[in-house]
Amino acid sequence: MTDVRTRFAPSPTGFLHVGGVRTALFAWLVARQAKGQFILRIEDTDQAREVEGSADHLITSLKALGINYDEGPDIGGPYAPYLQSQRLDTYKPWAQKLIDSGRAYADPYTAEEIQAFRDEAKAEKRAFLYRDHRPENSPVWDGTTALRFKSEPKSYQWHDEVMGDLHSGPEVIDDIILIKSDGFPTYNFAHIIDDAEMKITHVIRGQEFLSSQPNYLNIYEALGLAFPIFATMPHILGESGNKKLGKRDGAKDVLDYLRDGYLPETMINFIASLGWNDGTEQEIFTTSELIEKFSLSRVQRSGARFDEQRLLWMNGQHIRLLGLDDLYTRVADFWPDSAREAGEESKKQVLALVQDRLKTLADLPTLTDYFFTEPTPDWSMITNNKQLSKLTNDEIKNLLSAAKSALEASEFDAESIQTTLNTLLETTGQKPGILFSLIRLAVSWAPFSPVLNETLSALGKDTSLARLDAAIELAK
Ligand code: GLU
Repeated sequence: MTDVRTRFAPSPTGFLHVGGVRTALFAWLVARQAKGQFILRIEDTDQAREVEGSADHLITSLKALGINYDEGPDIGGPYAPYLQSQRLDTYKPWAQKLIDSGRAYADPYTAEEIQAFRDEAKAEKRAFLYRDHRPENSPVWDGTTALRFKSEPKSYQWHDEVMGDLHSGPEVIDDIILIKSDGFPTYNFAHIIDDAEMKITHVIRGQEFLSSQPNYLNIYEALGLAFPIFATMPHILGESGNKKLGKRDGAKDVLDYLRDGYLPETMINFIASLGWNDGTEQEIFTTSELIEKFSLSRVQRSGARFDEQRLLWMNGQHIRLLGLDDLYTRVADFWPDSAREAGEESKKQVLALVQDRLKTLADLPTLTDYFFTEPTPDWSMITNNKQLSKLTNDEIKNLLSAAKSALEASEFDAESIQTTLNTLLETTGQKPGILFSLIRLAVSWAPFSPVLNETLSALGKDTSLARLDAAIELAK
């Protein structure tokens, strides 16, 4: 069997967003599953659309996500260079081949003349086709004008690994530009040459190229090239599920998600699930499971919905899967300032307590600040609490005092604290929902905190008692 070789071929026209990552990811998964190669090729032949720095940004993003490639602009490979603007000499002989076989011609028209043809077709309510205006005797192509393909209109039937069996009629085939007057090839021409030269077996790309596919097939045939396997990705739809994902509803820079505290493996899992499932109810996949289970034939044809809430939930699940040491490394940049002086051991103790509650790594400051610094009491947290608001200040003071005395006499490991707290429930006759919530707020003044006994143990006896004292004062 031929080695599977897939590629991601972005144009450097901006940052890498979720849709781009998905195309890269699916191509990567196909290659990794088949133990083949994954290639990064930068398609920078449209100089006008190029955004400075975006090629580097694409590379940084792929690396940050762990989508590693075997050949690419920064690492080279057997078919280097992997930047189209450096491959102009590669396209020339292929263009010459088409000229020699009478399948390409110098475009004699100015932009104005072409516009006039368009207007005429519109006025006559017929489709505009370049091939209706082929010049009788085209001049020899000298590179100063565009080189146009001389198409052979016909019907096609082809298979797309995702979209199934497709067909098109001759009316969509036209004389498209192969080389522009600036000397650069068009995407339409260059990608076919590069895919062939780089021995790409699977062309996996977005839906925006599907309508041009019959023209590509016509070019493959004119060049005597075999068709690769095609796979077209469905659109990604916004939250509402009915319109294509726009910048505002999630088409943001994938690096921003990492900066916001999402794990790379969450992004991989989530993006893989946009349009793909393995046919079971399983939602959380490790990257190696994805490599094992992915298949293009299970990618759905209709648009996939981008659901930010689901992404958040998934991130929490992936955070739970991490070992403590691994998580500790990943949260290095997310600690609150108050933790700056804290040692590794105490930070790890706190981290272990909050691991299950982190939805993003960026939740860390809110969840842990009070472990490292004195929290600012906020009495409204008591008055706004449905259960606690029923207590009078005296009752609050008495409960906190009882808690303080009991804890003062207790050992301070989590287990002893739990025994103490259980006894306290009996002696005060209170429900855990009241007593424990009250103590929890008094020592943390945080909207959420981990299990009470462990929180107290991590805070230590002195701090816990001092904070109870402070709260008693406030209740007076
Ligand atoms: N350069 C094209 C783009 O960015 C890639 C299409 C392809 O994968 O063939 O959108």
